[in-house]
Amino acid sequence: MSTAHAAHPAHHHANPVILVVNAGSSSIKISIYVVPDAAHDNIDVQPTLAAHGQIEGIGVAPHLVARMADGRVVAEEHFPVEQVADHNAAFRLIRLTLSVGLRDSPPVAIGHRVVHGGIGYTDAVRIDDDVIATLEALVPLAPLHQPHNLTAIRAIRGAAPDLLQVACFDTAFHAGHDPLAQLMALPYEYYERGVRRYGFHGLSYAYIARQLRQVAPDIASGRVVVAHLGNGASLCAMRDGRSVDSTMGLTALDGMPMGTRCGSIDPGAVLYLAAHGMGADEIQAMLYGKSGLLGISGISSDMRALLASDAPRAQLAIDFYAYRAAQEIGKLAVTLGGLDALVFTAGVGANSPEVRARICAHLADIFGVRLDPAANQENRQRISSASARDASRIPVLVLPTDEEGMIALSTARILRESGGLPGGGQASR
Ligand code: ADP
Repeated sequence: MSTAHAAHPAHHHANPVILVVNAGSSSIKISIYVVPDAAHDNIDVQPTLAAHGQIEGIGVAPHLVARMADGRVVAEEHFPVEQVADHNAAFRLIRLTLSVGLRDSPPVAIGHRVVHGGIGYTDAVRIDDDVIATLEALVPLAPLHQPHNLTAIRAIRGAAPDLLQVACFDTAFHAGHDPLAQLMALPYEYYERGVRRYGFHGLSYAYIARQLRQVAPDIASGRVVVAHLGNGASLCAMRDGRSVDSTMGLTALDGMPMGTRCGSIDPGAVLYLAAHGMGADEIQAMLYGKSGLLGISGISSDMRALLASDAPRAQLAIDFYAYRAAQEIGKLAVTLGGLDALVFTAGVGANSPEVRARICAHLADIFGVRLDPAANQENRQRISSASARDASRIPVLVLPTDEEGMIALSTARILRESGGLPGGGQASR
């Protein structure tokens, strides 16, 4: 890392390498991307994934896996907790593991996933001291994610101060929301101070918007709801590829229930808990970590585990999840003034025929949604029925998301704009 520089000379032999860092609450993922020649002056050419390493269970049961883009595992190891007690240690370990493949070409830029960009950042941004200070101030809005994002940024800045680092925000794709979509009905001065609905998963939605333009331009220009259903889950209303509203709010707690987060609840419930002896930290831990699918089922936050269980509360948790997802789709359809298409993505959305079917069952009467059972079962790109007898009124699509690919794309763009790519032009190109 210490030998890397922000801008390599124009005549560099190997293709430039970009690292994408996604530091979560208990995991760090690092991906290595190579910027192909064709991308040097074309912002639409995506960097190609070369390798990926991740550590999960930091501070609990650390587990490292590193694999090449073709899936070949190059390292896999379980560590004693003491050895990977925090994010710094995890980061060093992944860097070390991946450094084998990086020896000939140190990264020319690092793209970070940063959860909260506040009201200031409407796009990816080059990181400097001012940016770090701004992101620091947003920690209370994303207490489980933002500190880890910043730890990674600082660790790299300490080791290689001149290396170009780029922050890519989960909020930025939503920055153009109308005030109606941003307001909470609190005293207005709080809105002015930034207590507003921002929305998250923006990197995923930006990627899906881009995919839609490529695979179904007719749909992309319409009124689309995208359901990002992973460990975290939200939905986004898009008009012509731009976000007009989403289900997450000031924090990533709002909207539909998730693996361990509660989604929308009556704020009175929080007051009730506080009045009956629970402290703020305890309530926070419950709303973020012990609620959602895990809270209702008492079994797991993992959708696969619940689908495999015949415990009544596992089924109740899935039923509630599907019901709430469908309700949110209805709400977003009102925002859009109609619904032209529905897109499923992320772990559950892209892989679970069962959950998609349960959600769509709620949408049959109101939106005329009909699934093609075989297409749904096989996670095909278009899962809505096209049969003459019972065609779906709107297309339903499954598109895998790629948040890290989106970060690589934005990082390559900023690298190009700052003259860091051979043949790369200025911002005007
Ligand atoms: P993250 O939000 O951490 O990126 P993912 O998008 O990978 O997470 O989503 C993780 C969720 O996806 C888990 O609940 C997991 O059970 C679920 N999932 C993954 N594959 C399947 C599948 N085949 N069927 C049902 N759920 C799945």
